[in-house]
Amino acid sequence: MEFTSIPRRGYVEQPTPLQKLPRFSEALGGPEIWIKRDDLLPFGGNKLRKLDYLMEDAVRAGADTIITASTNQCCHNEIVLLLARREGMRASLVMEAWGDPAYRFARSPERALYSLAGADAVETTTAPPSGPVESMPLAQRLREDARARGDSVYFMPRGGAGALGCCGYVRAAEELAAQWGADTPAAIVCPCGLGGTQAGLIVGLHRLGCRTRVIGVGVTGKSEAEMRVSVLAQCGELAKFLDLPPVPDEAVQCVEGYAGAGYAKPCGEQYRAMCRLARTEGVLTDPVYSGKALYGLTELVRRGAFPADGRVVFLHTGGMNLYYDYAALTQFEEG
Ligand SMILES: *Cc1c(COP(=O)(O)O)cnc(C)c1O
Repeated sequence: MEFTSIPRRGYVEQPTPLQKLPRFSEALGGPEIWIKRDDLLPFGGNKLRKLDYLMEDAVRAGADTIITASTNQCCHNEIVLLLARREGMRASLVMEAWGDPAYRFARSPERALYSLAGADAVETTTAPPSGPVESMPLAQRLREDARARGDSVYFMPRGGAGALGCCGYVRAAEELAAQWGADTPAAIVCPCGLGGTQAGLIVGLHRLGCRTRVIGVGVTGKSEAEMRVSVLAQCGELAKFLDLPPVPDEAVQCVEGYAGAGYAKPCGEQYRAMCRLARTEGVLTDPVYSGKALYGLTELVRRGAFPADGRVVFLHTGGMNLYYDYAALTQFEEG
């Protein structure tokens, strides 16, 4: 399908800013760092770009109830719930609370938000995600309840994964290329969770003939090799969906070693990188995703991974910062 003909809901109304970070760049002592402020999207982050396409699909399918799943401290479920409300739909959610064994849904900010916005049903599980949402027994149970009400159900993929959701970042690539013009950066650094954000950017930039490297910093503790295989597969699926040629294998670059003890478990070095950006530029990052990508970026600069006279763009994927668990950081020394 031709990219420009894919309908979207219009939640992303204008390009997010691409800003220079002069004081942060100076503090790192390497290339000029710029930041793409997707944290300033409504609802605060990258999920909105994916849902711009996915919710349009749900509306066109005539859905009354959205059923989806996500892990603790991933804002996917919350944003789906709020958008469902905005569209006059119901939302039934599965919370996969496996990231941190100390996490308790009953006392979590997620629970408070689900109840504030009136989620229609919530199921929780401590099992790690396996298979698509529609194949989860809990999601099937939610579907039966929705059907009993006479509702038509739309299964929203976990984290907005899949080719349609990735189109959100094909569009972000268009924004970026228009914003930097002839001043092409050496690289973009972004978090890599499920990898759809990175895959969308890679395919989107290739579509425009731009060869800027997109480096995904792992936030879940997966190995470089595992991430590459997954992102490459998503690039392949997306390119096929958009009738584009496949991207070469070497277009996918992922780095490991910056995820602390694993998903939703921050580490001290990461906290110090977060402090540095907050104190030099007044930009907050979150402990689960953007803070880890930022830590990866600072280490790559320190190791000389980028030309000192070049430019690097940090994609701030946001994530409803204030709602994340900053208390987990009080155990560390400040930077
Ligand atoms: C979900 C999420 C990510 C990860 O995006 P993927 O496309 O799954 O790699 C990164 N940052 C934030 C803030 C997120 O909520």
